[in-house]
Amino acid sequence: MAKIIGGIGASHSPTIAYAKDTNKGADVAWKPIFDDFAVLQKWVHEQKVNVMFLIFNDHITSFFFDHYSPFTLGVDDSYITADEGGGARDYPAAKGHKALSQHIAQSMMNAEFDLSTFQKKPLDHGFFSPFSMIAPEVDGAYWNGTVVPLQVGVLQFPAPTAKRCYQFGKALRKAIQSFPDDDMRVAIVATGGLSHQVHGERCGFNDEAWDNKFLDALELDPEELTKMTHAQYATKGGFEGAEVIMWLIMRGALSDKVNKVHRSTYLPSMTNIATVIYEDTEDTNAVIVDPNLTHQLDGLEKLEGTYPFTLERSHKAYRLNLFLRNLSNQIHRERFLADKEALMSECQLTDEEKDMIRELKWIEMIRYGAIFFGLEKLSAVLGKSNPEIYACMRGETMEQFQASRKVSMTYSVGKK
Ligand code: FE
Repeated sequence: MAKIIGGIGASHSPTIAYAKDTNKGADVAWKPIFDDFAVLQKWVHEQKVNVMFLIFNDHITSFFFDHYSPFTLGVDDSYITADEGGGARDYPAAKGHKALSQHIAQSMMNAEFDLSTFQKKPLDHGFFSPFSMIAPEVDGAYWNGTVVPLQVGVLQFPAPTAKRCYQFGKALRKAIQSFPDDDMRVAIVATGGLSHQVHGERCGFNDEAWDNKFLDALELDPEELTKMTHAQYATKGGFEGAEVIMWLIMRGALSDKVNKVHRSTYLPSMTNIATVIYEDTEDTNAVIVDPNLTHQLDGLEKLEGTYPFTLERSHKAYRLNLFLRNLSNQIHRERFLADKEALMSECQLTDEEKDMIRELKWIEMIRYGAIFFGLEKLSAVLGKSNPEIYACMRGETMEQFQASRKVSMTYSVGKK
């Protein structure tokens, strides 16, 4: 089973990435940032951490208020740096551990944490600012490990409570420790904070005394921190500093007692930049894995002619499903009708995907990983009906299919 080695807490201020990218290591004002993050790098390297579960919040770069979620888990095999206005950072993509993501998503759902998931989204400084300074670079080579990112929706209220974050961490611990890989060594990395406020007349607020109290409690009495409201966090640590509730996810995922091996804070300008390392003190082998952890879909494989839309299928057929889904966009639709070959090539569909669309191979698309609701869009665009798809998938004529219904009806999701 996978082993949780420990937890890292680190601020995710964009200054950290800026310092790295502009080689400010020798500058007196910036040196403490490099020194503190060097400790984290060394620990990750020496502890042979090969997976980082990294908790962050996006800053309206890839996640916006048209659809905002409390907990959103990355389920991709790769995550690139986002363009936040001045062009994307020149830093390689982080490799995603897709199988672990899928396992965690399933386990958390079973533990009644209703996660949303994301893929094909670039990640902003919330993730990459600390990640690029924590992932060890040895002999000029980038870190070889993988990541699972968790985006927490702390920008728009209501947001998850501190208590919920801590409970999330407890369920996450079980999810990770039940992943069947004896060689997996996981660090839980929480980012954000400490005290800062970047908006309004109160911008520039800090309280180092509170930050130290927070770090004491996080290590020794995290339950106490779960009793505080967002308003109390904002009052004590600044409005944006209230994002430190994300650190409670990390703490909840660790053993009740932890060994603190590093703790530092440095307040140069706007944010009290903190770094901590806690080592886990419990033996993973003593953990009893809940046999019910992945029971929700057990048995479904016996249902013939049924293709559950799992994260695996979602990932595999993402390009095809996106193409079909975009048929609900008028410009995409008109281009499809005018010259589908050009559009399919532009959207980088494979020859197999193009052929299935061109020849309306409905059942082949389903077997490939298309979701039905993309098929019905394609059929509506072409002026065809839903029952035509049903008949075709069942290998029947329209007459045979309609004869199997109580009433013969023809309809589609098209306007007419
Ligand atoms: Fe932030």
